[in-house]
Amino acid sequence: MDMILENITRLREHIYNRAVKAGRSPEEIILVAVSKMVGINQIKDAREAGITTFGESYIQEARQKIPQFSEEIKWHLVGHLQTNKVKYVLPLFSMIHSVDSIRLAQEISQRATQLEKTMEILIQVNIGQENTKSGVSPEGLPQLLEEVFSLKGIAVKGLMTMPPYFSDSENVRPFFKKMRELRDNLFPSLPDGFSLPHLSMGISSDYEVAIDEGATILRIGTAIFGERK
Ligand SMILES: *Cc1c(COP(=O)(O)O)cnc(C)c1O
Repeated sequence: MDMILENITRLREHIYNRAVKAGRSPEEIILVAVSKMVGINQIKDAREAGITTFGESYIQEARQKIPQFSEEIKWHLVGHLQTNKVKYVLPLFSMIHSVDSIRLAQEISQRATQLEKTMEILIQVNIGQENTKSGVSPEGLPQLLEEVFSLKGIAVKGLMTMPPYFSDSENVRPFFKKMRELRDNLFPSLPDGFSLPHLSMGISSDYEVAIDEGATILRIGTAIFGERK
C-alpha cells in the first residue's frame, strides 16, 4: 500500500511542478495508471490513493479484471486492438487509444451504434515510423481522420503515440514535438466544430518531457506499480 501511495504522491507532485514550469495548467493533464499485469489489490491501492482512470493493454486480462471494479472507475485501452476483439472492448472501456485503421474504426462504430453508445477514441500515430510499432503514419493521418470523423458512434478526441525508446528522455522530445505540430497543423482542415484536444503521450521514463511538449494524457505504469514481472 505505502509504496503505491508514495509513488502516486510523488508522481502527482512531479506532474504538477513540471506543468507549472512549462506554463501549463496542471488540471488539464489526465493521469492514466497503466495496470497491465498488475494485480487487483494493487489497483485497489492506487484507487484509494486517488487514481480514477486506469489503462489496460490486453483484452483477455481486461475482461477478467475490469468487472471486479465498480463503475466509478474509468478504463482506457492503451494496447493494440484487433478488429475481432472490438466486441469485448466496448462494454468495458471508456476510451480506446489505439485506433490506427479505418477497418478498426468501422468495427468500433458498428458495435457502438448497436449498443447506442458513443466510444471515445484516439488515433495512434507511429511517429518514429518504426516497423515494430502500431499506428498510422504521419502521412496517412489526414486521410484516416477524414474517414473516421464521418463514422457514427465514435468521438475522436485526439492523438496517441509510443515514440522510440531512449534511455535519455531528452532524445524523445523531437517526437513529442512533432506530434503536437502534426495536431496543430491539422486543425484548420478539420470539419467545423471538431478539434483534437488530447495528446496521449509520455510514460514513466519520459512523461516530464511529454508535459513540456503538450501531453494531456500520461500513461504511466512502472512509476506507480513498480517493474512488471
Ligand atoms: C505499458 C504501457 C505504458 C506504461 O509504460 P511504463 O513504462 O510502465 O510507464 C504506456 N503506454 C502503453 C501503450 C503501454 O503499453
